[in-house]
Amino acid sequence: MSKYLIKCRACGAQQATPKPIPACPACGAGWLDAVYEYGRFQPANGQSDTSWPHTLQKYGISLWRYRDLLPVQNHANIVSMGEGWTPLLHAQNLGLMLGHKHIYIKDERQGPTGSFKDRQAAIAVSAMKEAGITEAVVASTGNVAIAYSAYCARAGIKLWVFVPSSVPVEKMREMALYGSEVIKVAATYDQTKVIATEFATSKNIFLDRGIKGIAAKEGMKTVAFEIAEQLGMVKAGADPSIPNGDQHPWQVPDWFLQSVSGGLGPVGVMKGFSELKQMGLVSKLPKLGLFQPSGCAPMVHSFHKGLAKAEGVDEPMTDIITLATGQPGQAYEVLYELIQQYGGTFASVTDGEAFRALRVVAEMDGISVEPATAVTFAGLFKLIREGVIQPDETVVVNCSGHTFPVEKQIIGEHFTRDMAVTDEEDTSEQRSEGLLTALEELDSRVQRIAIIEDNPDSARLIRRILQAQGDFHIDEAHDGKSGLQLIQQNQPNLVILDLMMPGIDGFSVVEAVKKDKRLSHIPIIVVTAKELSAIERARLNGKIKALLQKGTFMDSDLLNDIRQALP
Ligand SMILES: *Cc1c(COP(=O)(O)O)cnc(C)c1O
Ligand SMILES: [Zn+2]
Repeated sequence: MSKYLIKCRACGAQQATPKPIPACPACGAGWLDAVYEYGRFQPANGQSDTSWPHTLQKYGISLWRYRDLLPVQNHANIVSMGEGWTPLLHAQNLGLMLGHKHIYIKDERQGPTGSFKDRQAAIAVSAMKEAGITEAVVASTGNVAIAYSAYCARAGIKLWVFVPSSVPVEKMREMALYGSEVIKVAATYDQTKVIATEFATSKNIFLDRGIKGIAAKEGMKTVAFEIAEQLGMVKAGADPSIPNGDQHPWQVPDWFLQSVSGGLGPVGVMKGFSELKQMGLVSKLPKLGLFQPSGCAPMVHSFHKGLAKAEGVDEPMTDIITLATGQPGQAYEVLYELIQQYGGTFASVTDGEAFRALRVVAEMDGISVEPATAVTFAGLFKLIREGVIQPDETVVVNCSGHTFPVEKQIIGEHFTRDMAVTDEEDTSEQRSEGLLTALEELDSRVQRIAIIEDNPDSARLIRRILQAQGDFHIDEAHDGKSGLQLIQQNQPNLVILDLMMPGIDGFSVVEAVKKDKRLSHIPIIVVTAKELSAIERARLNGKIKALLQKGTFMDSDLLNDIRQALP
């Protein structure tokens, strides 16, 4: 049974389905939310130890302490690097400077890849793993691609990241370092998203749906859970680095501040606060202070014009690429409604103001952030100066990210595949033909490799080694019988085979392949945990290309053997 229902924002229809779905089955709309049975978490009369905050303590301190309200059914599918439970830091010096005592910094730089996108990646990649997905596509202005690359590496999922060519090269290097295919598109982010979608559709590869899908918002809502839990400690005069659980009442700040690109952060965070309110744990939702760089501020402009739907920006003019989303789409409508209901505002700051704020925050409170985060601090300064934020109000700043450059000599120069996109002015027919060919060429996998392995961890390891290397088409089977069928059907260029499997074992698979004239030319590499006896070695002698002992080979050993075995 699914622990949550999927609810369509457009028509309100609800479904129980354990797999990611691309759209509402009732009306076809794309924006979906997870809803849980919140009543279940309310303490039964007089029994406070059944309350949700009380039960969190058994799950330790990462965002997975909130797993009962996260969209992963089986805990074995959780892909984690200890993300979440980032510090809530009091901005003391900055506060003195601004004359404001209640500024708190939610330090999302301390995620595994240095930005709050780690939360999104952890939930989304765990959900992919649960759905059995082994290959995925994502479009990004940088940090999503880095976070997904890291988590997909751990989960054994091949990832194609599509990024606009304006993304800093250090960030692309980091994506490549994790073994992702980095497609650098000479276009805006909004066009890049369209191309990624076309690629995923034409190749029938799972496309991460970002803010419209379930996982992303569910990841971001954990920021709200943590803030409320930590602020409960702060307001009780306790140490917010210690998990609160049900020691002290949870608290909501007066303001939540963040710079926005697609708007996922505040949308997810407000969903989180709203769930806490539905469970009776808090009494209100915060006001939102949302900021964009003045060269790409479609939400700010639309808001101040009083529009309920956003007017886009065709050519973003900012050096802060993380925030260069020109077409906000539905996210703006949701944020607009939230601000109508709970208060708050949008404001823009110049790139120059952001860079100055970046230095101030580093110098005053020892916190070095990426420019996108500096936009939030510049926005904080602005709203305090203008009196929009009052001195007695509690403010939480999403300190969204700090990425660290990967050394040039490690990844070298030629790690992206470049895609030129012709101008819109060309006839659209020419354009889409060119695009189709370009998309076709991106995926030039000609070599087909079958992995036959019953141990899921070993299968994932081998798959990952191949994925990170690039261009292989990978098929998998998990026992000898279906493995043999796979070889017969697909006639792969190479088989990587385990020996110890239930039913037909690896020895028998080797013998069956070598006996069959249509298959006998296919090279086989055996990867085994078994110490082979002399008799067993003799059984394989002359029939296989290489024998690798599990736990003793490196990825380069396997790749060398593969290169030698392939025609
Ligand atoms: C993604 C990102 C933002 C903007 O977040 P959205 O909620 O997706 O608009 C801000 N700062 C950093 C560091 C980011 O990575
Ligand atoms: Zn619907």
